Amino acid sequence: MLVIEQHDDVQRLVFSSWRSRAAGYQVSTYAVRGVMIDSAFDDAGPELMAWIAANRPQGVIITHAHDDHGGNAERLAAAGVPLQMRPDTETQLRTPQRRGWHRCWTWGRMPLLQSPVIPFDADGLELIQAPGHAPDHHVVWDAERETLFAADLFLSVKVRVAHPVHREDVRQQIGTIRNILTRNPKRVFDAHRGLLQDGAVLLAAKANWIEETVGQIDRRIGDDWPDRAIVKEVFGGEPMLAYTSRGDFSHANFVASVRKTGASGGTA
Ligand SMILES: [Zn+2]
Repeated sequence: MLVIEQHDDVQRLVFSSWRSRAAGYQVSTYAVRGVMIDSAFDDAGPELMAWIAANRPQGVIITHAHDDHGGNAERLAAAGVPLQMRPDTETQLRTPQRRGWHRCWTWGRMPLLQSPVIPFDADGLELIQAPGHAPDHHVVWDAERETLFAADLFLSVKVRVAHPVHREDVRQQIGTIRNILTRNPKRVFDAHRGLLQDGAVLLAAKANWIEETVGQIDRRIGDDWPDRAIVKEVFGGEPMLAYTSRGDFSHANFVASVRKTGASGGTA
């Protein structure tokens, strides 16, 4: 299913399938400056390609290799649509990845990128490294219009779960968000929630919340608490998602990410 919203110069394409809706998810791509940002998931492919054929964008930027952002990279490349992505994203899209049960069910297949990529430059749009959510995560910045296409940088203020298969690094997210905020975005578009009201304020709140939570976890790690006790004390136990995703998204992973990266600046 495709729902299209117009926000002045930006078109938001909201894609979902019955399975993603049942799991509570949708994902957006954005059309701006004659370019599309991200490619949604495989099941959205026919609707995405119909929009591409009708609107003929200069190319598609892929922010990171997750299945709900790069799920149509192969379809686009095979159709000769130019793509812009960083080399680490392209490498991941060309390499089979372990995907959790929850992601496979929500987003469907994840076809490997096999066709050659025709690169392109998007005038007025800058692809900026924003690691943390994933090592290859990027955001797109329109400096002239002070607009941030934040991909999965925000999601929500308190994302209390982390995902080890994606090599999510919660500590790294603090510096990444603050670095992006030095650009003073006036508009922030989230890949799942659309145009955020007071996006910069929300992003700052998120960085502060992660920093405070990581600090609480660091103190308990310093006092030799086991992870399970930390999860109980800091988060009040695990959410239902930890069970439905069979542990892929859990507070334990959040704590493990904090432990792995160390209190003194990180090792990852
Ligand atoms: Zn993602």
